[in-house]
Amino acid sequence: MSTVFANMTPSQMFAFAWRNMSKEKALEYPSYHDFLCQRVGSEGCAFLNLIYGIKMNYNMARSTLTRYESNNGMKFTSEYVRPRGGLSEIVDALAKSVKRFGARMYAKEAVSSINRDGEPNTFVVRTERYVVSAKKVIVAIPFLPLKEINGDIGFEIKNHTYFTHIIGQKCFKAVAIYKYPWWENATSVHNMSLKTWKRYVSTATCLVYMMPYSRGPQGEGIIQLSYNFYDCAVKWGQLSKLPRATFLSELNKAVQAVFPGMVVPEPLDVKFKYWEAHYTKVGSNVSRHDTEEWAKRPFPGEQIYIVGEAFAVIVEWNEGALQTAYKALKEGWGIEEPEP
Ligand SMILES: Cc1cc2nc3c(=O)[nH]c(=O)nc-3n(C[C@H](O)[C@H](O)[C@H](O)COP(=O)(O)OP(=O)(O)OC[C@H]3O[C@@H](n4cnc5c(N)ncnc54)[C@H](O)[C@@H]3O)c2cc1C
Repeated sequence: MSTVFANMTPSQMFAFAWRNMSKEKALEYPSYHDFLCQRVGSEGCAFLNLIYGIKMNYNMARSTLTRYESNNGMKFTSEYVRPRGGLSEIVDALAKSVKRFGARMYAKEAVSSINRDGEPNTFVVRTERYVVSAKKVIVAIPFLPLKEINGDIGFEIKNHTYFTHIIGQKCFKAVAIYKYPWWENATSVHNMSLKTWKRYVSTATCLVYMMPYSRGPQGEGIIQLSYNFYDCAVKWGQLSKLPRATFLSELNKAVQAVFPGMVVPEPLDVKFKYWEAHYTKVGSNVSRHDTEEWAKRPFPGEQIYIVGEAFAVIVEWNEGALQTAYKALKEGWGIEEPEP
């Protein structure tokens, strides 16, 4: 690559792009993608898209302001820790805490509507089997299912400007366990093997980020087979809705295409997730700070609180969703420091 970027790493290119940035400058670029291309030039842009496996889709494009605010909001360093048993330990801890306070939990019970009752500050929450009357309601339903919620409260949330400016950017991840780590056997075709915790990027079949994890208890090989965004995520998300055997067969073919000389065995198991990360739409000048502030008390004087990543300044990380929850606790219960 020519120009000033010739000797830069991708991280240095990103740092270059974000030099001397301000909210006003972010608003000059409706699209974050276009902002990046302007700042690092067309060659730099093509290079970054290639190495990060980005196949753009403007239906899911986000505003530069979203990225700017999220970058500034992320105060944590790369020295963060994850729960030992995985992120679901957060949910387990929550369930334990709820039970300790004597509350009851209902799993697999999707909320279908939220309404105001005749009484002041009384709400009615409906699921398929239950009707619950409540004085206070925390809405923790993500953006996409929230679009399906009925009732006057549901309707007013869905039609609010802050809500209508949110977009869901598709993401897909698949992890597989094999009897042995077949990727450690180098072949003459590649003259290479994949190393644990090292990312291998391949966009051709849209798997994008592949990365071996550590071994299983019997020496099994565990690998992230796919992690991707935008259109590649849509491809695998759609395929994952086919019968499981068909999906697994397509996945296996894609892996085999990336490593033509290697013998890729049948996996022992595959887990995958197709989901949406939340941003503000391309072209929108709605601030995520304003969205987060609105969500903590969307209807002044009423005891309704909205929490979750869809309404947070920090996106893609639990931290954003947690921040919205802390704000709701302070707003509705005066709790300044929730117990860890
Ligand atoms: C594969 C993957 C890997 C990730 N890795 C990390 C990571 O390493 N570190 C990190 O910090 N973050 C990670 N994240 C992001 C993190 O999981 C999210 O930021 C976080 O879960 C967002 O929390 P939330 O409460 O907004 O939504 P969710 O965690 O999605 O919770 C929403 C809940 O609402 C429920 N729900 C949906 N519809 C209804 C309805 N109608 N009625 C009632 N309930 C409903 C859902 O079942 C779900 O339990 C990852 C996400 C994924 C998908």
